[in-house]
Amino acid sequence: MKRSEWIGYATAGALCGYLIGALLFFDNRLSLASSGFAKLGFYLAVFYALAGLAGGGLALLGWRVLRRWGRVEGDERAGRQAVFAGLFLFVLLFFWNFDSFYHHSTFEFGLLVWRLLTESFVPVTAEGALNLGILLLLVATSAALAWALLRLRAALPAGRWQTLCRVLLAAGLLVPWGVEAARSLADRETPPPLLARPGRRILFIGIDALDWKIAGELLAAGELPHLQALAARGAAAPLETYVPAYSPMVWTTIATGREIPDHNIRHFSAYGLGGAVAVQPLVEPSLLLGNPYVLRVFGQLGLVQPGSVTSNTRRAPAFWELASHAGLNTAVLGWWASAPAEPLNGIMVSDYATHTDLSAAALEAQVYPPTARSMVAAELQAARQPPREWLEQLFALTPEQGALLKDQGPDAAPPAMREILHSLQHDSGLLAIAKSILHAGQPELLAVYLEGLDTVGHMALHYWLSADPASLDPAELATYHQTAKAYYRLVDAWVGELCGLVTPDTYVFIVSDHGFTLEGPPNYFHHKSGPPGVILLSGPGVLAGSTPRAHVRDITPTLLYLLGMPVAGEMEGRVLEEALAPEFRGKYPLLSVPSYAGYRSAR
Ligand SMILES: [Zn+2]
Repeated sequence: MKRSEWIGYATAGALCGYLIGALLFFDNRLSLASSGFAKLGFYLAVFYALAGLAGGGLALLGWRVLRRWGRVEGDERAGRQAVFAGLFLFVLLFFWNFDSFYHHSTFEFGLLVWRLLTESFVPVTAEGALNLGILLLLVATSAALAWALLRLRAALPAGRWQTLCRVLLAAGLLVPWGVEAARSLADRETPPPLLARPGRRILFIGIDALDWKIAGELLAAGELPHLQALAARGAAAPLETYVPAYSPMVWTTIATGREIPDHNIRHFSAYGLGGAVAVQPLVEPSLLLGNPYVLRVFGQLGLVQPGSVTSNTRRAPAFWELASHAGLNTAVLGWWASAPAEPLNGIMVSDYATHTDLSAAALEAQVYPPTARSMVAAELQAARQPPREWLEQLFALTPEQGALLKDQGPDAAPPAMREILHSLQHDSGLLAIAKSILHAGQPELLAVYLEGLDTVGHMALHYWLSADPASLDPAELATYHQTAKAYYRLVDAWVGELCGLVTPDTYVFIVSDHGFTLEGPPNYFHHKSGPPGVILLSGPGVLAGSTPRAHVRDITPTLLYLLGMPVAGEMEGRVLEEALAPEFRGKYPLLSVPSYAGYRSAR
């Protein structure tokens, strides 16, 4: 094999790396320093050039095998190039295809092979068969493309073929810049003006893991009077969600009305570019064409680092952005994937805020506007010591545990209790901020997110609802038996407090991202299978006793409609019309615009 051929393989690989780097850069066109891109692009090009050389080696072997065992005739060099092209196309198609199939999680090649072995053959499952079918389709497509390339090469004189290769290379180098230029031109289109009907107000309480069935039973037993009052006043229904129901992606769908690939918050974590401070634009693994191994190597080199998903990877505008652009006074507290805090006509406290040391420097990126920082810090600080009666309601504490908690605070508690107490600090801190905002004057839109029921679900739900309590540790059973129920009651009391501070004509949304259910082994409560959450909705025009068929993607369209704002055609969700009185719908017809994309580009 000649040197020029090896150079060709390395060049093809490097071009791939370059294109991936450009994709990463433009998809996260934020505050990323161009020196960071140059470094990443360089390493990607080198990495993929090496992959190209390896591909060349495989092509050499592959062609020999084909010639000897497949009795394939033809020009040696062209044969090797066709095999190489087939291999490369397969890898690209493979990750591209599976990125969309498995959009909710990082797809791993090893996992696929394992699934093929364990599921496709012994025993055959629908998912395993699907995987196998997709894989075969990809192999066939790659082979067909490589064959077409081979034919094209044979048909062209050598000089023309080389020119074609050079043109393709140049086009490859220019493609991302062209795409980006077209995209920024499209972004320059004026987004539709946003108008809201004056006087409409919304209180949105997001309660992670509030379960339809458990809440229903507690409601029937009269244990949750405030939620019961809301349910009696308006619509109450189970809320369908995604499978698997991972909180960041579901809450972002709730906030945008868009599907997961469209809003791009796909998981709990993502990769960020190396050297970034705590909260920086983060890069989804899928953007490296789904290749987690490349990312792992780059992680070792310090080029990328894993971190939590952040607000600046969200591609679709959230309802708070739209409300704020419409001139509404807006407050958003603790929402998933909302760090760093976004500038709003109002107040935003990110989900990171409660996890910081509450210093002014730590809160700088987590609270908007800067003038709200001292109030936020004071409320969160006060919430770090939970009231004694809450501790007594949540846990059956031994005298020693009680004394330890009193002296050393929640950090001295055993692991499960510590987790629950951290969530309690988080929730009660955000609740205090919400009350402080309401006391200063009710904003048109106040959205607050509470996480504690999810933590309690993971840590303590089985002590209450176990199918086999005898298998549990008796001391732990005694400590945590009441925890989940007590947290439901606490949440109900908080809902009552907030509802008591808003005007009677306020629309109240109570929404959860999923429920909790017994999954798999006894005592294992989880929500991967997407047990339904809850929607309670009340306010002027909402039909009491209605039970809309609701999905998490319907929340934003419904919220926009109630604010008197148009719903975007690009939203997959719908307005929950069956929860609204016909006269109300007649008086306020549904308005729509094609897209709100323009409200997300100005970052
Ligand atoms: Zn959870």
